[in-house]
Order: sequence, then C-alpha cells, then structure tokens
Amino acid sequence: MNADHLRSKQDREISRQLMEVKEVRRINEMIEKREAEGPMGTRRRLLATSVRLSRGMAPWLHDMADDCIEKLGVEIPTELYVYSSPTYNAACVKPEDGRLFIMFSSSLLEAFDESELKFVMGHELGHYLYGHHDIPIGYLLKGKPRPSPKLALQLTTWSRYAEISADRAGAHCAQDSIGVARSLFKLASGLSGKLVKFNIEEFMQQVDEMQTEDAEPGQGAPQEDWFMTHPFSPLRVRALRLYDHSVLAKKDGNSVEELEAGVQVLMTLMEPSYLEGRTDSAENMRRLLFAAALSVANANGEISEKEIAVFEKFFGKRSFNEDLNLDRLEQDLTDRVAQVKATSTVAQRMQVVRDLCTVARADNKINTEELDVITSIADELEIPAHFVDQAMALEVKLD
Ligand SMILES: [Zn+2]
Repeated sequence: MNADHLRSKQDREISRQLMEVKEVRRINEMIEKREAEGPMGTRRRLLATSVRLSRGMAPWLHDMADDCIEKLGVEIPTELYVYSSPTYNAACVKPEDGRLFIMFSSSLLEAFDESELKFVMGHELGHYLYGHHDIPIGYLLKGKPRPSPKLALQLTTWSRYAEISADRAGAHCAQDSIGVARSLFKLASGLSGKLVKFNIEEFMQQVDEMQTEDAEPGQGAPQEDWFMTHPFSPLRVRALRLYDHSVLAKKDGNSVEELEAGVQVLMTLMEPSYLEGRTDSAENMRRLLFAAALSVANANGEISEKEIAVFEKFFGKRSFNEDLNLDRLEQDLTDRVAQVKATSTVAQRMQVVRDLCTVARADNKINTEELDVITSIADELEIPAHFVDQAMALEVKLD
C-alpha cells in the first residue's frame, strides 16, 4: 500500500501554495529545460565520488531497502551509495533517468542498527514519495537574486514540515519507536551510543524546556530559527511521539486532526511570534490578545499588579492605564475573534490562547472566572478544550 496518507497536512498545503509562486515556477521551468538537454550528471558524479553498494556487496542493506520500498509503495528502481565521511548523514537526490539514488555516509552505515537504518532509509524514500524534490529549495535559497524574506520564510517553514512527513515514512518503515528516536539522537549528537546511554524522555525534555523559555510573555522563537530547513531533533522526536499515538500508527489512536494540531503547536517553537509580525493577520491577533487579556485579567472584577506587569510585557511599558474602556473592549471582543478566525491558522490562534493562559497564570492562581473567559474565547476560535488545559498547566506538556 502507498504511504501517501502519512504525509503531514501542512507539508501538503504549503507545498501546493509554493508550486503556484512565480519564482518557484520560473526555476522549475529552467531545471526542466536543462533536464531535457540530457542528464544532469548526478549519477556520473556519484559513480565518480562514492561507492555504489551492489546487492552482492551489501545484501543486508538491499534487503532493508526492499522492505522499506514495499512498505511505502515506492515504485522506482533504486541505487544505494556510500561516501566517506565521519558525519552521520544520508540523502536522496532527485531521480535521473527513472532511477532513484540514496546515499549514506560511511560512519552512519557502520554505527546504525537495523531499526535506526530503516528509519533513515524510509525518511529518504519519503522525500521522494511525497514529491519534495518538486520544490527546488536549494536553488531558490542560494540563487540570485535572493528570495524575498516572505518567500524564504515560506520555503523554510514548508521544509520543516516536509521533514515531519519524511520522518513519518521512516517511522512506518522501522516499526520501532525507540529505535527511531535513538536514530534521531545519534544524528543530533554524533554519538554512536557506546559511551552514552540514550534516554528518550530526557531527550524530549529539551522541548519542554524550550517551551518554558518561549512561554515568557512576548517571547517568540529567535529569528535564526525561522529560516532553518530542519526542525530541531527533540522536536522531531516529539512530533513522532504524537504520530505514534495517532490513528495513522495504531487503530485506536488519536484523530489525524488532533495529531496535526499538536504538530503545529510544536512547530510554532521555530516560527515567528505574531507579536512581531507585520501582516494583517498578526495585527488582528494582537488586537484580540489586547482585548482578551484585559478581559481575562478583569474576570474577577479587578486587575492585579501582577496581571498588569504581564500585560505590559506583551504590549510594552505604560500600555496599561486606568482610562482603558474595559467595557467597550469586552464588547468588541466578538468582532476581534471573528477577524482573527477569518485571517489566521489554527496554530496561530493557539498561540493567542496560550498567551491568554500566561496572563491568567500571572498571579499564580487561576480562578474559575478567568478559566471561563479563556474557555469561551478558545471555543469561539474553534480551539479544542484540552489545549486550554494543557496550556494552563505550568509545564506545558503535549502528551
Ligand atoms: Zn530529510
């Protein structure tokens, strides 16, 4: 069976949008023209600089490849290569003449066990299966003229979701969630596992700590993260944990909608916060946060010093003053919610709700009135109630 259904929803959607972008189409037309003139030389370069692992040389690796290819339903002749490198790495390049090439670094082949390798192999095959080569991200990011920041951001955001899809394909091939996590640990640390005992819970803990840091009011992901093409490894492990608990990996798992929402929350850890954005949708969300934060703070009839302090961390010093017309802002809330709903994604709306929870937590106690206000706003924004519960817990855990 084809494993197309495992592909991340965001990968699918953003890639569809990117295929319509003028610059992307222009580069693709250029590549197509060049390909029509003859092979791009990929295979020749591989034959010259790497070693092709034939079935006779590495029957065990070919058996694994056969298994992965069958599990994913990939239909294309595949050649396997190894190149000399102390860095654990693997890659899959765009097919040439109807042949797909997967290459592994020598150190990876020697240090990874069967599950770990199957994950890597399935991941690379996933890139092919999901058409990730259709978006020439390398050409676009490195080409001249450089893409606009908006396009660069869209490309790198897509690329991170493409990695999530490929990871799911890899996990589907390995059928061993601990082996998969260990594989990502080895890739991230460069360790072979001989010296350090791998602990999946502690590795994932790194995400919780990132989240705790980002949950500081007004704090988003640092700008250098926005343009990274790969999600951080602990995030990938967490995203895979959500996948393992979903109906895509087991019969009685969580729905695909829940899975994708959870993954989007994780990925916001590498995305710009709406508090800094200059788009209409960011402006709408700030306006909503402004009115809703005051309404949450005022839920029990008075706004405390600590609540004012948090509010000012979001909106700047002296943004709060006694003259703010709280009644009017509260009446305006419904309109602001509607504007946000019309212009933002679920993940962005989740960010607003998360920030509201931060305001409610300001004085270290959450009262029912505050919770009621947040729950009803979340409900109008069509954010699942369990998200509020999670965001309310001081340590935001996702599963
Ligand atoms: Zn990849």
